[in-house]
Amino acid sequence: MNYDSLMIHYGELSTKGENRKQFIRELNKNIRHAIKEFGCTVTNDHDHTYVKFPDDPMPIIDRLQKVSGIQRISLVYKSSRDIETLKKDALELIKLEEGKTFKVVAKRGDKTYPLDSHGVNVALAGMILRNTELKVDVHNPDIVLKADVRKDAVYLSSHTYYGAGGYPLGMNGKVMMMLSGGIDSPVAAYLLLRRGIRIECIHFAAPPYTSDAVIDKLTDIIKQLNVYQEDIKLNIIPFTKLQLAIYQNVPEPYCITIMRRMMYRLAEKLGKYHHCIGIANGESVGQVASQTLDSMITINNVTNFPVIRPLAVSDKVDIIKMAGNIGTFDISIRPYEDCCTIFKPKKPKTKPRIDECEFYESKFDWQTMIEECIHDVKSILVRDGEVVNFAEKEQQPS
Ligand code: ATP
Ligand code: MG
Repeated sequence: MNYDSLMIHYGELSTKGENRKQFIRELNKNIRHAIKEFGCTVTNDHDHTYVKFPDDPMPIIDRLQKVSGIQRISLVYKSSRDIETLKKDALELIKLEEGKTFKVVAKRGDKTYPLDSHGVNVALAGMILRNTELKVDVHNPDIVLKADVRKDAVYLSSHTYYGAGGYPLGMNGKVMMMLSGGIDSPVAAYLLLRRGIRIECIHFAAPPYTSDAVIDKLTDIIKQLNVYQEDIKLNIIPFTKLQLAIYQNVPEPYCITIMRRMMYRLAEKLGKYHHCIGIANGESVGQVASQTLDSMITINNVTNFPVIRPLAVSDKVDIIKMAGNIGTFDISIRPYEDCCTIFKPKKPKTKPRIDECEFYESKFDWQTMIEECIHDVKSILVRDGEVVNFAEKEQQPS
């Protein structure tokens, strides 16, 4: 006899009615996909999802810890409501554990059960004390045996693992994520995914100033993110012509600001075309000249599409730690040329003005170049860690 199921405790499930049903439906779909090769059975009641596994639960738990919408995962054994059977099962299970002290914590989800929580605690602890060397320690026990009394059964558990929290992917729409190849944007993407927001990515490439190697780097980053979203599309915008036009027509201190205004315009346009409800990026207030609040406001002024900045107030050390945890850090630090670094002005404006930007922008026909960028975008689909489709030229809005 051993633990045979996982009890999934839902994440931020304060919602009721239809939203609750959607939460559970989306989550169960994502769970089934994440563990499809393990031969598990997935069921649910009103409060939990249950995953019955055939043998080793650890690789399954590892996968489930990356599925958004899960608060906790308990390794459980579905025992009987019959108190004598329950006592025997509790004894068998606790014998599998290592330690010298224990405590029983009963919870009555079903208030009609004949024993109250204290009664269950006493019955199970008595059985264990009579048949093992274990001692009770209510303050700092080596083993905590939980007994969750429900309408159909009593679930026994003594191991709980944390999940990613948040909402199931797909609950909160899709955004166009600006993915650069640096450290920050993959982490921002991960935070969105954990919140249940799907992503599609946009990258601004400036060949021949940036090399094609950056595309491999981006697909490697996306492969890591596939753990959270199985299929992610990467749109590569040919940005060189527009960028050169900026450097020919705009005074150097304003180049980065105007370049970023163009990026926002392009992200919005492509995002709307692909049914996104906003743009997202890895900006963090104060990190560089283009990310001072004054700068952000001037850049943001070109769009009224929502812009989500998951890292707006994060410290770089925390971002780096997260990048390590999600497996993107080592990929991000591979040397590469970013379109921003190549054309880096010596003295970028930290308080750029909107009217000045508009004045410089009036000097060249960026609108046509934006249309060309959108028209010539190349898209790659990365699914479950593999590039499955490379469309040379996709049909885009004219
Ligand atoms: P990152 O580490 O994500 O590259 P960063 O600290 O280098 O961020 P910037 O280069 O100023 O900061 O870029 C801020 C954000 O703008 C990035 O996090 C990313 O979302 C977006 N961005 C920058 N360059 C590109 C690019 N070439 N393609 C797509 N998005 C970009
Ligand atoms: Mg960057």
